[in-house]
Amino acid sequence: METELGSASAAPGEVARGWFDVADLPTGTPERLPVVIVNGAAEGPTLWLTGGVHGDEATGVAAVLDAADAFGSMRSDLAGTVVAVPVVSPAGLRRNARHTYYDDADPNRHFPDADAESARPPKLQERIDARLYRAIVGEGEGEGVAADALIDCHTAGVDSEPFAIRDRVLYGDRRTEAEATALADDLAAIVDAFGFPTLTEYPAAEYVEENLQRSAAGAVLNEAGIPAFTAELGAHSVVDDRIAAAAVAGTVSVAVALGLLDATDVPSSVSDASDRLDPAPVDHPVRRYRGPTAETAGLVRHHVSAGEPFVAGDTLATVVSATGERRDEVTVDHDGYVIARTEGLAVYEGDPIASLAVRDDGDLVVPRDAAGD
Ligand SMILES: [Zn+2]
Repeated sequence: METELGSASAAPGEVARGWFDVADLPTGTPERLPVVIVNGAAEGPTLWLTGGVHGDEATGVAAVLDAADAFGSMRSDLAGTVVAVPVVSPAGLRRNARHTYYDDADPNRHFPDADAESARPPKLQERIDARLYRAIVGEGEGEGVAADALIDCHTAGVDSEPFAIRDRVLYGDRRTEAEATALADDLAAIVDAFGFPTLTEYPAAEYVEENLQRSAAGAVLNEAGIPAFTAELGAHSVVDDRIAAAAVAGTVSVAVALGLLDATDVPSSVSDASDRLDPAPVDHPVRRYRGPTAETAGLVRHHVSAGEPFVAGDTLATVVSATGERRDEVTVDHDGYVIARTEGLAVYEGDPIASLAVRDDGDLVVPRDAAGD
């Protein structure tokens, strides 16, 4: 079957590149997203890869481009289709910045959520995100492109460890608890195949408060019920080729898990890159945690670096005055490890000093009511 999205149209066994128009610009040109379709020689599931929803997240874009190339070279062995959109936010890419200049919006917090409908008409970012979302879930914007799974590639802060984020699956109006459990199992299978250290997303209330159910992966998972996760590929702004190669290896193993490829058809030059990442330094399940917070203003001097473990009660940082006097200690009340230290030397009261992976005993399937809406 021919697979088509925007101007890209690929017959079985072919690779096609093109553009998917998502809006008109005042300057008379369309806002268009780059598309690469790798249509396998045989039919099978469809794996979507997206990157660059934040315009400064260079390694995510590189990983999607490199993965599309890798699948292209394996297309005669591929049973199914890979649809890659390497730059989801062209307006962010033009600025090399996380946000677009449309209302200075975060493009990754405006995907559809039927419970978040506003009385006001949707603005441009929300319309662009909705057009892409409809294409991903197969609501009539392309032929044969409906996703069976999505990997959305990002990067995090300065000096961040790479990781994958597994969102909790919400149940309630959209699906029953049993359906949510089945979806969470399908999600676990692809996240495990990706092979990066995995963090479960924030607890439900914080997840919805931060509008993360309206991220690309959050909406595809929790609104459409399609397995989807976010890959955080190290730090922003500069391509990290080691992590990009590991992400390509992980993406190819997701394709194997979904049945698009036989593991024996994957060249070792691709799969070996998965060994280049360090495993998580703790062996218990972890979730994302932003903190602990400084309670005194000053300059923060960290004692624990990205990738290093800690236990509850450890001091992660000291806050000092600009004349070097010790003002406060910042301790942690969880076990876990440091994903990244927060950017910036100056801290104010209430500022989180790090992004952590902390022990998680929470459920992976939770009622949406627990999110407080
Ligand atoms: Zn991002």
